[in-house]
Amino acid sequence: MKIDNKKFNRIKKEIQEAKRILILSHRAPDGDAVGSSLALHTFLKRQKKKSVVFISQPPQFLKFLPGFDEIQRKPLFKNDNFDLIFALDYANKERLEKPQDFQLLSRKTITIDHHISGKRVGKIKIVDSKASSTTEVLYYFFKFQKTKIDKKLATLLLTGILTDTVGLSQSGQNHRTVEKIVGELAIAGGDLFKIMAAYQNFDFKRAKILAKFLERAESDEKLNLIYSYLLKSDFNGEKGLNLSEPPMFPDFLSSIGEAKVYITLIEQKDRIKVSLRSRNGINVAKIAKKFGGGGHKYAAGCKIKGDIFEVLKKIKKELKKNF
Ligand code: 5GP
Ligand code: MN
Repeated sequence: MKIDNKKFNRIKKEIQEAKRILILSHRAPDGDAVGSSLALHTFLKRQKKKSVVFISQPPQFLKFLPGFDEIQRKPLFKNDNFDLIFALDYANKERLEKPQDFQLLSRKTITIDHHISGKRVGKIKIVDSKASSTTEVLYYFFKFQKTKIDKKLATLLLTGILTDTVGLSQSGQNHRTVEKIVGELAIAGGDLFKIMAAYQNFDFKRAKILAKFLERAESDEKLNLIYSYLLKSDFNGEKGLNLSEPPMFPDFLSSIGEAKVYITLIEQKDRIKVSLRSRNGINVAKIAKKFGGGGHKYAAGCKIKGDIFEVLKKIKKELKKNF
């Protein structure tokens, strides 16, 4: 990312003028949503600002992260309590998780993100679709601010980078840049191993669900794709399947190295959650967008109503048309 001094300067000023700042990110938060929220929170506190991170269901595999216990889970804040709001990593307005009855006023909001497309809010928007993660964008902002990146900040920034690149295996474009930043953050004391250990660990119950998921995988050689699905009945007894905890099913499927496109379908209460993964130049964000979703070139998703196999047919048809 070319450091955008003008925009960074405006953000710096907004922070200076604000007293109470709220940090929001997306629903079903991942390592990047939590890592970027807590990194910004840590930075703001060091600037002597009152900062609140709101995430109603932070993924438990990240509970070792510095500041995790400070996350506010209850959605009960009033608008007037804050004079500045950061909206991070959310891609599209609808995916942003807001407190109850909260009005997201554009004049108070700053967006920091790295998704290709989507409707975003705010008087200042920094969106770098070349960045591996939202924490990478924050890394540039901290550099601009000449903030000391210590062990705590380094660990939070690394969490976004490592999880959004699926453990440094799938960064979209600039591997060299990501490697350099990761190296710098590791030297600064960032807990690379701890993050990766947490990210790759899962319990027995989920291992059994993963087994079912892999068992059902099918390959469509004509379309160069691999797909699989999970039904509500597969995770009976649980309140649903928490897709924010490891293993990340769509990423697991796409580690089978024989296809160019991977489709994961997960039956939810009233719709099917579709996760798309790809490689070799195939842009699945384009497909997801056709169904009202979005994401990145090589990792995108959407939600579609209907029967799971009908949904699969629709996606395949769209893929056929495009590739
Ligand atoms: P996943 O398949 O892991 O849920 O998501 C992969 C990527 O696609 C993420 O970067 C996420 O932001 C994006 N994505 C997934 N579902 C949706 C959706 O329903 N709408 C939008 N706009 N993006 C989505
Ligand atoms: Mn992200």
